[in-house]
Amino acid sequence: MTHDEITSRLRETDPERLERLWAEADAVRRENVGDAVHLRGLIEISNCCARTCLYCGLRGPNAKLERYRMSDEEIVAAARQAEALGYGTVVIQSGEDDAFIGERVAGFVRRIKAETPLAVTLSLGERKPEELELWREAGADRYLLRFETSDRKLYNRIHPPREGRPSNRFALLRRLGELGYEVGSGVMVGIPGQTYDLLARDIEWFADLDLDMVGVGPFIAHPGTPLGAGPAAVASAPPGEQVPATEEMTYKVVALTRLACPRTNIPSTSALATVNLAHGREFGLCRGANVVMPNVTPARYRAMYEIYPGKACINESAGDCARCIRARIESLGRTIGTGRGDSPNLRRKLEGAATLRER
Ligand code: SAH
Repeated sequence: MTHDEITSRLRETDPERLERLWAEADAVRRENVGDAVHLRGLIEISNCCARTCLYCGLRGPNAKLERYRMSDEEIVAAARQAEALGYGTVVIQSGEDDAFIGERVAGFVRRIKAETPLAVTLSLGERKPEELELWREAGADRYLLRFETSDRKLYNRIHPPREGRPSNRFALLRRLGELGYEVGSGVMVGIPGQTYDLLARDIEWFADLDLDMVGVGPFIAHPGTPLGAGPAAVASAPPGEQVPATEEMTYKVVALTRLACPRTNIPSTSALATVNLAHGREFGLCRGANVVMPNVTPARYRAMYEIYPGKACINESAGDCARCIRARIESLGRTIGTGRGDSPNLRRKLEGAATLRER
């Protein structure tokens, strides 16, 4: 797809042509990653954060949020529960919490890897290259770090760096790949200041970075953040250029991501479930996605991990989420993935490298 094709498909409003886009994405999904939907148990280990991202409810200056940190015992217990529920992976996510650094993280990663067959995905924000290396050695398999927008100016506006530490998510993504992680990234759809042109470029970046996982969800304004006050908080895009933060726009991005990155793992995200509680997950799965991340965070912490308001599934237990998600997947005639559900894209890259070595 050319840049102009992506842009015009993002602007598409004709119902029949949209139906064709969904069908095309669904066919490419089936052909390249199959009908199995892989389940990842999401553990939100801490909502403490040293950053001040303008979009996120966990941002340090949000004084209204009650903060928590899970203990190592609780984290390992949540991982065991994920295993018991039949998931092949745990995704360990948090704000940029200075209590979860270096050896502390390496410690529970080693325990989970020693005591369970789970793949471990980390999503702990921008961390030091030495830590990323240490955690990889400890056994972490994958890392998720959305670049949020590929436009430097917009990125700097919504994502202030930490004192003395320039923020470069693209450099970190490359480093993660060199360290042998399966690498995931993504963006929010409809962040104030995001134009169709910029969003099309983001999708092109997904392919250029050869990502193994790509997560996208609608931007949901949080009243405790500068962007919760409305687009006026950042210089907004020219009239007609701003991407709306809608459910339908997010499906377009999911579908176009599948076309741009046929073998990547794409989750049908909680943000989609939040904007359409009844059917968001299913629509995502039928328009390009092949992964779901059911929450296994202990019930008493769930509501506090409020990156955006109204988050789906905060009053459910891990068992409730497992049952609900299985039923939704089965209602689509899809199967539940078994095993770790490694990215077919990484497999392709490794096979390519092996062929090169044999030559
Ligand atoms: N601290 C980690 C994890 C952040 S939460 C990190 O920065 O990588 C994971 C994702 O939630 C973020 O990457 C962002 O894309 C998304 N997110 C944050 N605030 C959001 C909001 N208000 N609406 C929708 N998605 C949001």
